[in-house]
Amino acid sequence: MQNAELATGDKIEGRCTKCRKNNEHIIITLLKENPAQVECTICKRQHKYRPPTAVKTPAVRQSNLLKDTERKEWEALRPGMNSAKAVDYSMTETYKVKTLINHPAFGLGLVQRVAGPQKIAVLFEDGQKTMRCK
Ligand SMILES: [Zn+2]
Repeated sequence: MQNAELATGDKIEGRCTKCRKNNEHIIITLLKENPAQVECTICKRQHKYRPPTAVKTPAVRQSNLLKDTERKEWEALRPGMNSAKAVDYSMTETYKVKTLINHPAFGLGLVQRVAGPQKIAVLFEDGQKTMRCK
């Protein structure tokens, strides 16, 4: 990123660790054309420049939607699950996709996919969770 037009004394939006929010800051020193030391215009504190934090969009709605989808998936798959065939979950075991597992906290779960090295995505009644495996 090039901030060639920045100069000391310029005002820049940054994160203030004292105010705990994004404030206007005055650039005190520059390092390689990037703000290094800045002064908060609100609390007048001088500190290292931190970029403004992104305003967090509420993730709740998104996760509720996801939960809904997972719940429907669970309900569709549940009749085909034979809980007698479920194996007790252990993070030292290896699992194949479509294996039924029994988790001490989440109950019956269906291995849906390999989610990464030593990780499996398991669908529980509670929703999908990533579990460790061998
Ligand atoms: Zn401040």
